[in-house]
Amino acid sequence: MVVIVNMSLLNLLDTLGSLIFPKRCAYCDEIQSKSVCYKCEKILNRMFRPRIIETNYKDLICFSPINYNGLVKKAILKLKFNGDKSCVPPLSDLIVRTIKVCLFKEKIDFITCVPSYRDAKKDYNQSELIAKSAANKLGLSFKNVLIKIKENDLQHDLNFSDRQINVKGVYEVCSNISGENILICDDVITTGATLNECVCVLSKFSFSVKCVAASYTKLNKNLK
Ligand SMILES: [Zn+2]
Repeated sequence: MVVIVNMSLLNLLDTLGSLIFPKRCAYCDEIQSKSVCYKCEKILNRMFRPRIIETNYKDLICFSPINYNGLVKKAILKLKFNGDKSCVPPLSDLIVRTIKVCLFKEKIDFITCVPSYRDAKKDYNQSELIAKSAANKLGLSFKNVLIKIKENDLQHDLNFSDRQINVKGVYEVCSNISGENILICDDVITTGATLNECVCVLSKFSFSVKCVAASYTKLNKNLK
C-alpha cells in the first residue's frame, strides 16, 4: 500500500514537473517530448556531412560533420554562455555519429577534451561535457589528461598568427599516458590552432592523437 501511494506521488510530481518545466527541443526550444524535435532532426540530417577538416597544420587530423551555423551555433552558444546543459546530448550525438562514420576502424583507448579558458562565471567546460557524453554513448572511457599551465586570451578575437602564438606552451600533460590512442573532442574547430597545440603536447606520450569537433567554421574575414 505504502509503495503504491509513493509511486502515485512520484508520478504526480513527475507530471507536475513536466507541466512547470516542459521538455524542449535543445535546438529550437519548441516544447515536445524528445530532446531534438522532428523538424530540427531533419535539418541537421540534411546538413550532416562528416569530413576531415583542412587546416594549415600537418599533424592535425580533425573530423567534423556540420557547419557552425544556424541550429548548431545556437545550441553551442546556449551551452557555452547560458549553461543550458540540455544541449550536451544532441551535440555529443554529432560527435558520436562522426566517429561511427570516419573513425570506425580506429582504435580509441580514451577520449579527452581541450582544457577550458578560465572564467569566474563558469564552473564547467562545455567541451568536457560534450566529450564525456560522447565517451559514455560509445562505451569508451573519458580522461582529463591536459591542463592549462598559463592563462591566455580568448582565441575568438585573434587572427590566424596570433592564435598560434596565443596557445603556444599553454597546455601540459597532467596524467600518466604512454603509447595510447587518444581522441580529443571539442565543440568548434576554426583554424585548428588550439587542437593542434593539444595534439603536439599529447603526441610526445601517445601512439596516435586524432580529433573530432562537433562543428567547423572558417576564420572571420576581418581577422585574417
Ligand atoms: Zn527543434
